[in-house]
Parts: sequence; C-alpha cells; structure tokens
Amino acid sequence: MKVLFVASECDPFIKTGGLGDVVYSLPKYLNKIGVEARVVIPNYSDIKVNFKSKMKFIKSFKVPMSWRSQYCGVLQYEEGGVTYYFIDNEYYFKRQGIYGFYDDGERFSFFDRAVMTMIKEIDFKPDVIHCHDWHTGMIPVLYKNEFISDPFYRHIKTIYTIHNLLFQGVFPPEVLGDLLNLTDHLYYNGSVEFYGCSSFMKGGINYSDKITTVSDTYAKEIQTPLYGERLDGLLRYKSEELIGIVNGIDYSTYNPETDGYIYKKYNTTTLNNKVVNKLRLQEELGLGVSKDTPMVAIVSRLVKQKGINILIPILDILLEKDIQLVILGTGDREYEEHFSNLQSRYPKKVSAKLTFNNGLAHKIYAASDMFLMPSLFEPCGLGQLIALRYGSLPIVRETGGLKDTVTSYNEESHEGNGFTFGPYNSQDLLYTIERALSFYGNKEIWSSIVRKAMEQDNSWETSAYKYRELYEELTEK
Ligand code: ADP
Repeated sequence: MKVLFVASECDPFIKTGGLGDVVYSLPKYLNKIGVEARVVIPNYSDIKVNFKSKMKFIKSFKVPMSWRSQYCGVLQYEEGGVTYYFIDNEYYFKRQGIYGFYDDGERFSFFDRAVMTMIKEIDFKPDVIHCHDWHTGMIPVLYKNEFISDPFYRHIKTIYTIHNLLFQGVFPPEVLGDLLNLTDHLYYNGSVEFYGCSSFMKGGINYSDKITTVSDTYAKEIQTPLYGERLDGLLRYKSEELIGIVNGIDYSTYNPETDGYIYKKYNTTTLNNKVVNKLRLQEELGLGVSKDTPMVAIVSRLVKQKGINILIPILDILLEKDIQLVILGTGDREYEEHFSNLQSRYPKKVSAKLTFNNGLAHKIYAASDMFLMPSLFEPCGLGQLIALRYGSLPIVRETGGLKDTVTSYNEESHEGNGFTFGPYNSQDLLYTIERALSFYGNKEIWSSIVRKAMEQDNSWETSAYKYRELYEELTEK
C-alpha cells in the first residue's frame, strides 16, 4: 500500500499549527504498520537551512498553467524511514511566511498540478493520494477531470482530510481556466462554485473518493449550519463518505520522560520532577517563584476560534487569585496587545510571549498545571493532547476533538482527565476554571487526575490503523 500525503506544511520543516504535526507524525506511524507513506510539501524558503542542505535534487520539469509554463524542481529528503518531497519554485515559494499572500490561489494551483505531474515524472504511483486542507483541494479535481485519462494514473484513489473548515481557499472563478487549465464547466455545474467564486475546499469535498476530518464530533458538527461554514448542506449530502478519525500525537516528540527541551524529565512516578519544570520556568519568565501557585497555560494561535474573547473579560477576576497565567502565541493584534498589557499590569503573575517557539512550548506543557482551550470550535486540537501527556490538565469547551478527548473530572466516580464546559460564554469558563482550582488545592486528588491524564493513550496507534483500513477499503473497490 503506497500513500502520498500532500499538504502545505509538515513539522519539523515548517509548521504553523496542528496540520504540520499530523503530516509529520501520521506517515511515520503508518510506515510502522506496513503502509508506505511519503509526503510532499512546497519548498518554502523558511524551511531551516539544516534541512535544505540535506535535500537531494532529483528532477525538474515544466508545469503548464494555462498560458504559462512554470519551472518545478523536486527535492527529496529521508528521515525516520519516511521519504519527503519538496516542490521547488522560487517565484512561488521563496518568500518570508507561508500563507496569506495575494496570489495564494495561484501558488497552490501550481502546487497541486506540480504534485500530480511529479507522480509520473519520478515514477512513484501511489495507491492513494491523501490530501490535506484547502491547499490541496484541487488535486482530486485535477485527477478526476484530467489525469485519470492517462493510463499511468488510473486506479489511484483520493482522500481529502479537512483539518479546519474555516479556511476554504476561495478565489475568483477565473482560477479554473487561467491557472488550472480546467473548463468553466466545473464552475457552472456547481461542483467547485462557491457564492460566485471557486472554492478549493468544495472541489476537494466533491471530487475525492472519501472525506475525513480529525474527530468524530467535528465530523457531525460540520454538517450543521453553526459549524458548517456554508458547506454544511454539501457535507450532509456527502455524509456517507465523511468520517471522523481523531488525531494522535507523536509519542517520541512529546514525551516528558525523554523530552530534551524541558528542564527536568519526569513520568507518572516522578511527578516531583514536574514541579522543577515549573520553578525553573517561573524563574526564566520572571514570574514569582512558588511551587504551590497554580500555573495556567495557553499555547495557541491567538484568534477568535480559540475562545480568546470569552477569556479576556474574566482575566482580571482570575488574577485576583493566587494563580499565574503563561501565554505563548501569535495572532490577532487586539489579543496580542491585550495579553501584553496584562503582563505589564501583573508582571509577577502573567507572562505573554507573542512569538512561535517550539522549545518554549514544550517547557510550558511540562511546567504548567492547567491548559486552557475554551475554543469556539476545534476540529481536533493537539494542544490538549500534548497537555494531557505532560500532566497539565486541560480546561476545554465541549466541542469537536476537545469533546472527544477530554472528560470532565467527576468527584463522585473520580473519572475524568480535565475540566469541561458547554455553553460558549465567559461565566461558564470562569466557573470551570474555579472548579479546577478548587481541586488543585487537594494534592492527592490532583495528582491522581494528573496520573490518569498522562496515562491516557493519545498516540497514533489506534487512529493510524483506522486510516490503514480506509486505504484498504478504498483500494479494494
Ligand atoms: P491549530 O492547528 O488550530 O493551530 P492545534 O491545537 O491542533 O491548533 O495545534 C497547535 C499546535 O501548534 C500544537 O502543537 C501547539 O503546541 C503548537 N503551537 C501553537 N502556537 C504555538 C506557538 N506560539 N509556539 C509554539 N508552538 C505553538
């Protein structure tokens, strides 16, 4: 079974969020269970030099884009048994940053056609092309409307995984003809048309053989108007082909017993060492040094999706208590400014690092006692899974993957690995944080929940098998 993962990011080369984690860790696990998974992403200039210097040039060819013909180089890199390909074109990818450019429609039209062309050029015919998010949505469209007629490509199956339905890749309708060499028939038959534009996301949903998303609950939620981002009707229509498979995390990257980033390694039997991480981080961040002060952490994009606007109104109330708040994130300016002001007002209680820093993220997961994710919606969420693994108890809203992976502590049955709430408002969030703080005071209860959280299996073990089954099911047809 050969599978080609196509995505816009992959850790450790380039990552802005959970997508990068998944595209790195899932192929590694699949390779262990007999699936030959390879990965292809663009060769961004932001990829670190230590990787670039090890990439091997393997081929170049031209990619037709309507009236243009663009250069495409293919670079290859191997690590941990996985082969990675990088699509090289300096005009499209030699820039600072990876998304948010005026010509993203053109950049990813090029990428999608380049990947389809590459398969034949390098003679790697996968059984399944596994596409991720809108950037790769035109691959199934190109396949079913063009490449399938070439005998080399026949019998390939496509899977399209939605990691976040909010970002859809919606561009003027002309992208179809001017960039993708496709006819406007696809616009007029409605399969790619989206409110007068062309949608990469809609194309991916309509033309792939199977659609997956990253948790069971999110798979259901996106079929409703509240979470469906105006595609809920289509997703309901496609519900037979849509399934949710919850993400895992890479247990070798995220392991408090072996993590090279953290101050002191620990496991469920050496929780005292977890406290050392807190004391050292407090020192490093200039916070008050105290082992008994609960440290509440946020490691996240600072955007509306993450529930920041229900958190902000209650921060002053929370900070009257003996707690510390550690924030690591980048995002909307108003949120960044709010957290930076908060740090100035509470220098010993609040640390706001408005940057992307992987090493610091690991330190925060290890040091903190609680991890906040009051998301408005959350397709899966990896933050809470990493937090569980490091014994930082998640405080989350019951949505998407948060609902599927965190269960609220129940003082009678002693079940649960975190604290959850349902309605999206500040009062319920405040109540839930206060509830968590009330248990923090009881060391025996707290450490028993921490141990349970750390022992919960959120590795890829189970989900990788589900993907393998899906590949098998598709290719048997
Ligand atoms: P999303 O993909 O919506 O951003 P997830 O929870 O699925 O959210 O994944 C976020 C990933 O990115 C986690 O691995 C988290 O630790 C990491 N991350 C988010 N913000 C930062 C940051 N500022 N610095 C380092 N890592 C971050």
